[in-house]
Amino acid sequence: MTGARRNRDVGRDVRMRGFSARATVEAAVAWIDAHAAPLAPEAVPLDALHGRVLAADVHSTIDVPPFDRSAMDGYALRGAETNGAGDYNPLSFAIVGQALPGRPHEAVVGPGSVVRIMTGAPMPAGADAVVPAEFATERDGRVEVTAPLAPGKHVGRRAEDVAEGARLLGAGRRLRAQDVGLLASIGLDQASVVRRPRVRIVVTGDELAVPGMPKGVHQIYDANSSMLRGLVQRDGGELEQVLRVADGRDAIRDAICAAGIDIVLVSGGSSVGSEDHAPGILAEAGELGVHGVAMRPSSPAGFGRIGAALVFLLPGNPVSCLCAYDFFAGRALRILGGRDAGWPHPVRRVRLARKIASQVGRVDYCRVRLGEDGAEPLALSGASILSSTTRADGFVIVPADSEGQPAGADVDVYLYQP
Ligand code: AMP
Ligand code: MG
Repeated sequence: MTGARRNRDVGRDVRMRGFSARATVEAAVAWIDAHAAPLAPEAVPLDALHGRVLAADVHSTIDVPPFDRSAMDGYALRGAETNGAGDYNPLSFAIVGQALPGRPHEAVVGPGSVVRIMTGAPMPAGADAVVPAEFATERDGRVEVTAPLAPGKHVGRRAEDVAEGARLLGAGRRLRAQDVGLLASIGLDQASVVRRPRVRIVVTGDELAVPGMPKGVHQIYDANSSMLRGLVQRDGGELEQVLRVADGRDAIRDAICAAGIDIVLVSGGSSVGSEDHAPGILAEAGELGVHGVAMRPSSPAGFGRIGAALVFLLPGNPVSCLCAYDFFAGRALRILGGRDAGWPHPVRRVRLARKIASQVGRVDYCRVRLGEDGAEPLALSGASILSSTTRADGFVIVPADSEGQPAGADVDVYLYQP
């Protein structure tokens, strides 16, 4: 039996009764890994490929460059004929023509002759080396060469960059700018990439006001939808829409259940309060796979699925929302999009400046600031204190089997990045 199934609350109406058991983070992650898989491939035009994930290996059907070409501005000749050339022994050659990029010299270069050539121009037949302009002096239709050149010198060989048939980039590769350039260099105008997960953000809460609008005295501004937008973008999702709905069962059900979506992120109302409708809706309309996780913050997180859509219930407290996204929803997005499942945060090994206290049986997500003394846990760090995540440089994870970390311990700090 999995840890997730041992969580006996799953699927029952637990409103105002509290969680009687919580899934371990491990079991919660295992549920995601069992229910998330890369989406089907789609063909995407070259100019939209940056950042996308290749669905299949790419092989080249051409050589790059497709012909031998000059790597310098200078004079193409037979390298062997420059033997012995030097400042005190200039050798003289007849200039018989010119080769420019895209405009080759058609005749064969014979002994004692050179062709004036520019970088990128095809090497004329007969020539096998290029004298750079700085080792040559042109006068009256002839050129004096003052350096010896081995055959092949300053010549870019056909296929030296890419050979026909070569495997250029592998399936799963997240395309960097230069990768897209390479695909263009073999003439491709599109590639097969993993479809990006379509994501809907549903923000619940009667108390929420929209930034930029006037708000009532007891209202607060919605911080989570803007934060989730950025996280979805970071993890390669395609935002379908952001819906703000009141704490009513029907409105939340309609927002969660509407079709055509891969992932639904629900902010707020994920717990066991009287206005927390989302868990019950999910259990009724589909499957509530996990509800309640042994971690802090984010313990009221839950998730499941309705049809093919994965639905994540993220607690409304903004730090919990961020943390539950990073532990669970972000992982699902990355898996669906064909990316590495692991955290995208860079990791730095740092000494702890002060101890972190935790409890055996729960995972802690502890914000830290990096200073001269090492990683400093933030004092004011409740789940509702979003500024703790902006003052912090990153976070430390205290595993479930640990009572915390003493000052001086070396820990992995996951760095917040754009
Ligand atoms: P909930 O998870 O709905 O019980 O909300 C927990 C706490 O988070 C409450 O104090 C809410 O007012 C607050 N909260 C809920 N949603 C948001 C949001 N979108 N932005 C900022 N705070 C929120
Ligand atoms: Mg709420």
